[in-house]
Amino acid sequence: MSAPLDLRGDVVKLLHALIDVESVSGNETQIADLVEQSLQPFGQLTVLRDGNVVVARTELGRSERVVIAGHLDTVPIAGNLPSWTTHDSAGKEIIWGRGACDMKGGVAVQLSAAAALVHPRRDVTWVFYDNEEVEEFRNGLGRIAREHPEYLEASFAVLCEPTNARIEGGCQGTMLLTVELTGVAAHSARAWMGHNAIHDAGPVLQRLSSHQSQQIEVDGLIYREGLNAVRISGGIVGNVIPDRCVIDVNYRFAPDKSPAEAKDYVRQVLDGYPVRILDVAAGARPGLDQPAAAEFLRAVGGQATAKLGWTDVARFSAMGIPAVNFGPGDPTKAHADDEFCPADDVVACRDALIRWLSGPSG
Ligand SMILES: [Zn+2]
Repeated sequence: MSAPLDLRGDVVKLLHALIDVESVSGNETQIADLVEQSLQPFGQLTVLRDGNVVVARTELGRSERVVIAGHLDTVPIAGNLPSWTTHDSAGKEIIWGRGACDMKGGVAVQLSAAAALVHPRRDVTWVFYDNEEVEEFRNGLGRIAREHPEYLEASFAVLCEPTNARIEGGCQGTMLLTVELTGVAAHSARAWMGHNAIHDAGPVLQRLSSHQSQQIEVDGLIYREGLNAVRISGGIVGNVIPDRCVIDVNYRFAPDKSPAEAKDYVRQVLDGYPVRILDVAAGARPGLDQPAAAEFLRAVGGQATAKLGWTDVARFSAMGIPAVNFGPGDPTKAHADDEFCPADDVVACRDALIRWLSGPSG
């Protein structure tokens, strides 16, 4: 067992300590133990443990509660442990190693702020969960939402995934669908006796490539949609007219649409073709019109932008809790072998959370 984490000390040292506890998805017990034990001494927190999910709550009877969540797992290591430090040309400290960006920087921010916020003006539920980087059914936050939804009750949620320390509101929904075209197989020497399913793909691809994706404003943020063929398969052998061609299509849709509306939209665009929906995940509205969100925006400063990928904020949204992403590190470095996190981002995010939540009760 490693020494307990020092939550009151330097948040950048804390980030190093977190990275150095390997926690590839499925192997989070050690880091969850450490997080649980490190939070226990703080009298303002009630600490709960459920599997490898750790929940720490203040119980101050405030009129409002917010959830601040982050996952403890990482994608597999790639020769990037233990952590190390470099300095950029401006002399700024950069922390490297698996999870630096996605998202132990965010976890360090949560832990440091949880320790510092003894009398937050809103009650806070700090959530640390497992298995975010793997199949949906293993996701620790999803499990808690199903089994103990009361743990997550709140009027607003922040997910500390990397956003370059800026607020990214909501997230887009995503849908996977196929268009399966069927023809009639024949010897290619007698092509007129068959019907070429691959040739039928032409007009479908044409419709997709000429489709103008929408830019949609939701609660003041602009979401840029995308409807794209992402894979195509068909054909048997060099002398056979193919009787089957399958086009896989991905639709990223703005959070003003429900999954049902997104399905209708795609069926309309691809009207006349056999569309089959394989999978759909709802997006999440940014909820920046909520008072807690507006104060959060003010405390962080800068301009909020739309989150374009899908993140666990959608889970909060499904529970009726508006949610934003806000955390240290460049999201395009998540999962990269050379992932890193600027020390300044970690400090800035920690300080912003403390600014937002400290002070007398409202
Ligand atoms: Zn992540």
